[in-house]
Amino acid sequence: MSQFFKRLRCLLGRHSPARRLVRYDGHLKIGPCKYCGVQLEKRADGRWVIRPQQGAGKRDTVVQED
Ligand SMILES: [Zn+2]
Repeated sequence: MSQFFKRLRCLLGRHSPARRLVRYDGHLKIGPCKYCGVQLEKRADGRWVIRPQQGAGKRDTVVQED
């Protein structure tokens, strides 16, 4: 049941990064959400947000699962 609420947080845009998988991409900290797996990046204000799509390119399409 608690898992449901964690996923509900994702639906509300409050993702939680899987800290073991967080890495640096240039100056950005990035990592997948530990609940839904979406790629996140940490903004300057400290919030984790879904990474914007990188146009039509196929870079960095690797998906890691916990
Ligand atoms: Zn999530």
